[in-house]
Amino acid sequence: MKIIEILQQNLRSLSFEVFPPKTETAFDSVKSAVEQIAQLKPAFMSVTYGAGGGTSQYTLDIAKSIKDRHGVPTLAHLTCVSSTRETIAQKIREIKACGIKNVMALRGDIPQDLLHADRSGWDYQHAVDLINELKTADGDFCIGAACYPEVHPESANQADDIRRLKEKVDAGCDFLTTQMFFDNNLLYNFLYKIRQAGIDVPVIPGIMPITNANQVARAMQLSGSFMPQRFKSLVDKFGDDPAAMKQAGIAYATDQIIDLYANGIKNVHVYSMNKPDVAEKIQGNLSEILGK
Ligand code: FAD
Repeated sequence: MKIIEILQQNLRSLSFEVFPPKTETAFDSVKSAVEQIAQLKPAFMSVTYGAGGGTSQYTLDIAKSIKDRHGVPTLAHLTCVSSTRETIAQKIREIKACGIKNVMALRGDIPQDLLHADRSGWDYQHAVDLINELKTADGDFCIGAACYPEVHPESANQADDIRRLKEKVDAGCDFLTTQMFFDNNLLYNFLYKIRQAGIDVPVIPGIMPITNANQVARAMQLSGSFMPQRFKSLVDKFGDDPAAMKQAGIAYATDQIIDLYANGIKNVHVYSMNKPDVAEKIQGNLSEILGK
């Protein structure tokens, strides 16, 4: 099923993100965690594509198994940076062969060692190039793209970032998923601005449950997200107590999601990070709201 069809149902929904294993030895444990999450029957599950393509071969294995074994629609992420046209054309053929209808079209982060390289000759400069490719590829894909309520770190300012986002939408992306954020007002503000800019595709807010103190620094480094004082206090108080931190992090994410639903958002994506217990608790906390 295409994700855009799920979004058009206009019903409240929850979806989960998982990531593929980095090594073959981790495959079975990741697969088991992913299957437990799939058993929760979320609206859909997304499977990330390893930075720099590192774990790319497993993305499709995992996505296909979620779809085929559990009947849960899947969204396969695909990054294009530093890939050749041949590699991407092959990946697109593989996605189609797996029967996957939804692709998250991403540029990907520029690998550290290539940050200062001359990239002018690369086949893909930005996600919009991949969206163009997917639109003309044989596969009738539903295409997602990333957006950044707090501005992508490489953008000079928000107006520029939103102009680039509009180019992705105009190129044919069907929906957007946001980078994580910890203050819902940032999302509401962003939605107002992109709607003003004429971006009218559905936007799925991405919520990251922070369940251990180490994750905080990593999340901030990855996303540059603003940490509200309310969240910092929680980490200060419970960061040294893993069980309490986990409970508090799940409660904070649940609270964020309830506020989103209360403000009319229908579909929320949870960065569940291969943690079935976290996914299950969050979904359980929302059971009446979701009617599950
Ligand atoms: P782009 O849309 O290309 O944007 C990157 C920067 O370039 C922005 O500053 C933008 O404003 C600017 N820009 C865009 N188009 C142009 C243009 N034509 N000319 C000039 N500037 C332009 N990474 C992974 O490796 N694997 C994943 O699975 C993955 N999943 C993600 C899922 C979500 C929901 C999000 C939010 C991010 C994900 N990422 C993933 C991280 C993502 O790859 C990085 O944030 C990356 O730096 C940017 O990717 P993008 O697709 O947003 O790039």
